[in-house]
Amino acid sequence: MPTYHYRCKNCGYDFTKEQSFSDDPVTVCPKCGQEQVRKVYSAVPIEFKGHGFYRTDGGSASSDSTKK
Ligand SMILES: [Zn+2]
Repeated sequence: MPTYHYRCKNCGYDFTKEQSFSDDPVTVCPKCGQEQVRKVYSAVPIEFKGHGFYRTDGGSASSDSTKK
């Protein structure tokens, strides 16, 4: 499940929330209750492990074991 980063423009409260793609984005601040929450797209510690975000070259795997 992807984690989204939100920040309240009213009180500055900063939080992350795990949501599925079908979930509605958070708009109301859980702290001050104002509808001032915006999604933050930068500085999110999302891990892109596997799933084709890096590519493995043909010959790099063999040279990797010899070079320590
Ligand atoms: Zn707030």
